Amino acid sequence: MRAIYSIVRAGHRLVCVVAILGLATAAIHAAEFSAATPSPIAELRAEIARHDELYHRKAAPVISDAEYDGLKRRLRSLETQFPAAAAIAGSALIGIGDDRTGLFATRHHRTRMLSLEKGHTEADLRAFHARLVRALGSGDISYVIEPKFDGFAVSVTYEKGVFVRAVTRGDGTEGDDITTNVRRIRGVPGTLRTVASDGTVNALPDVIELRGEIYVSWPDFARLNATREAAGEPPFATPRNLAAGTIRQTDPAVVEARELEIVFHGVGACVPGSALPRQHREFSVQVGRWGMRGVPEFRIARGADELWATVQAFGRAREGWPYPTDGLVIKLDDLAAQQELGATETAPRWALAYKFASPQAETTVLGITLQVGRTGVLTPVAELAPVEIGGVTVARASLHNRDEIAREDIRIGDTVRVERAGEIIPSIVGVNRARRPASAEPFEFPASCPSCGLPVECRSGEVAVRCGNFDCPAQVRRRIEHFVSEDGVGIVGLGPAAIDALVAAGRINDAADLYGLKREDFLRIVGAGPPEAGRLQAAIETSKTRELRRFIQGLGIPRVGAVAAREVARRHRSLAVLLAAAEGSDPADRVIATYLAEPRHRRIVERLIAAGVKPPPGDDGAGVLAGRVFVLTGTLPNLTRAQAMARIEAAGGIVAGGITRATSHVVVGVDPGVKLEQARALGVEVLDEAGFVRLLAGE
Ligand SMILES: [Zn+2]
Repeated sequence: MRAIYSIVRAGHRLVCVVAILGLATAAIHAAEFSAATPSPIAELRAEIARHDELYHRKAAPVISDAEYDGLKRRLRSLETQFPAAAAIAGSALIGIGDDRTGLFATRHHRTRMLSLEKGHTEADLRAFHARLVRALGSGDISYVIEPKFDGFAVSVTYEKGVFVRAVTRGDGTEGDDITTNVRRIRGVPGTLRTVASDGTVNALPDVIELRGEIYVSWPDFARLNATREAAGEPPFATPRNLAAGTIRQTDPAVVEARELEIVFHGVGACVPGSALPRQHREFSVQVGRWGMRGVPEFRIARGADELWATVQAFGRAREGWPYPTDGLVIKLDDLAAQQELGATETAPRWALAYKFASPQAETTVLGITLQVGRTGVLTPVAELAPVEIGGVTVARASLHNRDEIAREDIRIGDTVRVERAGEIIPSIVGVNRARRPASAEPFEFPASCPSCGLPVECRSGEVAVRCGNFDCPAQVRRRIEHFVSEDGVGIVGLGPAAIDALVAAGRINDAADLYGLKREDFLRIVGAGPPEAGRLQAAIETSKTRELRRFIQGLGIPRVGAVAAREVARRHRSLAVLLAAAEGSDPADRVIATYLAEPRHRRIVERLIAAGVKPPPGDDGAGVLAGRVFVLTGTLPNLTRAQAMARIEAAGGIVAGGITRATSHVVVGVDPGVKLEQARALGVEVLDEAGFVRLLAGE
């Protein structure tokens, strides 16, 4: 028997996966693998190679970094324990991966561009410190601790202060030459400054390879995905996929449109070496003087105890960072000592990447149910024995689709490992086959819809299994739920249970039916008391005058999300005009025309109008910032970044990550960085918090 976990992982709602063997925590049973059975090592290597390919070349990873690191750790451990088996299994070393695509010319790095060794626990940190103490012969060691940006690694070369080249990590020795694309990133100036904004004169090295990370901030990620979804394109799963997928576009205009950002965190080659500060903590300052952006915040720690305490405290702060991170980087502060320590084949000896693990727990699958969505897609869900993961009780996990269940062979009765990462729906990351009950049968995906009983279908080229019955009760409920939700017209108090009851009683079949409901329906069918029935009636009445864009979005037209709905509302200004709209040249209009060509869709809109629904064409009444683009920089005295963003968006404004000519205001807090200078250079209006609050108040 082997305690092997088959990993099934959805890093996000979109992606799903497989990997053989081992999580970080999976116990290694040495006796399971004799030197005569090399296959686990070979399999593991093949699996890692597959993930390398997905991550580096395709920019479409399907497992989390923690799982990937777990695979590598397990492999290293097996190779150490079974050197003979490792030799039989063929080429040993897992290197640093290879991101070369063949689409670009390749270029050598002057200094090899390595990856970082990973740590996950306090013991890992203490072992790292102990190694450095031994190597340097002193226990008094200072570290710089920085956020580990989760984007795409790049090396940018300046010769005598002029930008000449940008190269991907590649295989560490040579990478893709992406100079043309990187030139389009605002944070990469054509020339380095000789005199900094504070008046200091900069020494410019003859040659310097600056190591950086290209990334997309969380607000830009959300905005770009909203645009894509509205256009019917698949959203990016993570900011890293977006950054990695964009920077290797062969069309530089696409790169420019996506507002990538870059942060510089280190140096490869530098001639002469004296152009660099002596301690890493001064590096960000130096980078800033040259006119670029260094790591925006870092901490210093001395010795192992302080290091561990600082890592924990700093790690807790990361939830508030506007940029994506996947941990912290710990670097030896003294650059001369860094030189002395050098590097192994794959990583410098003076740095460690500390990764925060997502909480996980083991539990059993009690059942597999199917949810029928608004568009008829059947989503399987694992019903779990409730288990606490990271302080939250989890009883369900998404199983994504039919193919994934089959590929992973998840069965009712299985013991599974469940992971909860941030606000993402919990996912099953492993099946413990050793604990599978003998009676467990492979899950058979039903051939008919659990709601209406009609046969399900699978469109060619799609993994989704659907119920194609427009009148399917589950779809009817989901459509009405969507209409009354905050994405739609926002009818407060009318929850799923009330909708279920009204649909079951035959009182409502679509959104327009809501406006024909009587007080009695709430009392008799929903079971509401007289005051609640009154409130529900009032809420429905009030919704008749919500903004037009809410009705458009609430109809749930395929490929019409928030952004497109707003745009269509702005142009058509009423439901009646919308009905009359002929097929125009605008893509959103074409989508809507197609939707309304269906008589039953058309009837809903006609009946909404007949029921007295009269949405005003304008945007939200509170939209004092409508059409304005804001950039936030520095720490505001009272508002958190998230609060400031929420207020801007609530008032109809847009938050962007970088300053362009489209930026209307930059809100500046303490320690604003280069954005303030960019804003001034472009003549963008600069506000402090007080000014921002006044603007929100319409003053
Ligand atoms: Zn159905």
